[in-house]
Amino acid sequence: MKLFDTHAHLDDGQFDIDREQLISEMRENGVNKIMEVGSDLKSSEKAIDIAENHDFIYCSVGIHPEFAETVTDKDFETVCKLAQHSKKVKAIGEIGIDYHYNDCSSREKQISCFENQIDIANELDLPIIVHDRDSKGDVLKILKEKKVTNGVVHCFSGSAETAKILVNMGLMISFTGVITFKNARKAIEALKVIPVERLMIETDSPYMAPEPYRGRRNDSRYVKYIAQKMAEVKGMDFEELCNITYENGKKFFNID
Ligand SMILES: [Zn+2]
Repeated sequence: MKLFDTHAHLDDGQFDIDREQLISEMRENGVNKIMEVGSDLKSSEKAIDIAENHDFIYCSVGIHPEFAETVTDKDFETVCKLAQHSKKVKAIGEIGIDYHYNDCSSREKQISCFENQIDIANELDLPIIVHDRDSKGDVLKILKEKKVTNGVVHCFSGSAETAKILVNMGLMISFTGVITFKNARKAIEALKVIPVERLMIETDSPYMAPEPYRGRRNDSRYVKYIAQKMAEVKGMDFEELCNITYENGKKFFNID
């Protein structure tokens, strides 16, 4: 069994007490690759550091919409520099729009922060990792305007209809432990219509722990519970689903 956790935040302070210990237990749990995702400049630097110290961990750099309000042109230059700093940087992310929390950042700032980083990704020929929470269609609009084809919409929470549009645009879609929750009907309906070659699995740890660990600290070892649920919904063999989504992740992030 081979598993690729395509979205984790190992740099998070919740892992300060046992980060190295956890990382050392990943392979015996079938986790052969991890994408460590940055969410601001500091965490992007940490992400690079973690990836450089572990051969099976790769990383992305970028500024999450939560931090868009105070972002400067110099910060975008730094993202661009960080992205070229290490061969382990495989994507720009996570970037996007989040209107769920009104006190986060203004809509204008979020949109410009997203667009600027899409431009960086295009310039460097890197895929993007997209965060879309209650963006009311703005993410889709921007992805279309910018003609993005090399991206993944992570922690997908949209409808089956939106999933079909994204698939037609050539994008990837990834799911977290949310699909294991009892109230996941919408996510399951979306999952059903997405071709398996466009799917990736992720923990989004330390958040979003799947059942039976819901509410606790999540880590990449639990990615297997998400794969199990995904295999069940797609009516596929567990091993086969693991292998296909593993290869999807490798191909998408250009990892050999
Ligand atoms: Zn995330």
